[in-house]
Amino acid sequence: MIRSDQHMHSTFSGDSKTEMSDMINAAIENNLKTICFTEHYDPLFPSYKPGNEGKFDLDVERYIETAKRLRADESLQSKINVRFGIELGIYPDIYDIGKDIITSSPYDFVILSSHTANKVDPYFPKYWEMYSSVEGMKVYFEEILENVKNFDDFDVYGHLDYCVRYTECTDEDKDIRHYKEIFEAIFKILVAKGKGIELNSGGLRSKLKEFNPNPEILKLYKQCGGEIITFGSDAHICEHMAYEISRASDLLESLGFKYVAEFKERKPEFIKI
Ligand SMILES: [Zn+2]
Ligand SMILES: [Zn+2]
Repeated sequence: MIRSDQHMHSTFSGDSKTEMSDMINAAIENNLKTICFTEHYDPLFPSYKPGNEGKFDLDVERYIETAKRLRADESLQSKINVRFGIELGIYPDIYDIGKDIITSSPYDFVILSSHTANKVDPYFPKYWEMYSSVEGMKVYFEEILENVKNFDDFDVYGHLDYCVRYTECTDEDKDIRHYKEIFEAIFKILVAKGKGIELNSGGLRSKLKEFNPNPEILKLYKQCGGEIITFGSDAHICEHMAYEISRASDLLESLGFKYVAEFKERKPEFIKI
């Protein structure tokens, strides 16, 4: 059974109002052994609402200061391992900015996420007015391929099929055969570079009602030699801490994964499921 949650947010992220201390208490109540905060940093995130510019910037100085204090807090760390990472929202124009952000601060863990494709967030209907479901998904996955080819400063790729959460697509549209070649290319590069992916349970809370990525994509990752996988609830509130963690354990085991990874100082530790 997995007992680590490697993807969560607190008030350091523009879309969470939950104090870090409340998240930590929720993790202890859930009997977790290790958690990692992965606060949002989406540099130059395209904003569609006036006044929202910079909403997903991170106050790095204050975050690292807090991390330093809590890493040194022995009474806390004796109850639970608390680590401090980042979820970097990436797209091709900002590789240099992203590299600078990651290499200039001591994060435990870096999730690389695509929250946009062609600088439009698939969360917004505008994206799906530009493309059919299959096209929109291909554009999104092809940008991930470009990112993994050209960007190295990360540990796992986040919620690989995030865009699917927001489409009105059929099961046929979602069928892996449309995207298999793109994912095979992505996984070949990830495996060669020693990077992993995450199993994110946030999608189970959306209308999609599925993990991101879905089991077919996870299966392909395994077939391509992928071994590094983390579990993350993507919790922004305490109630979502460790969301569906036992279901995630069962799914990974059924697909032949024996270990999940946790990261400390950017190095993976492999923990038996
Ligand atoms: Zn995300
Ligand atoms: Zn997140």
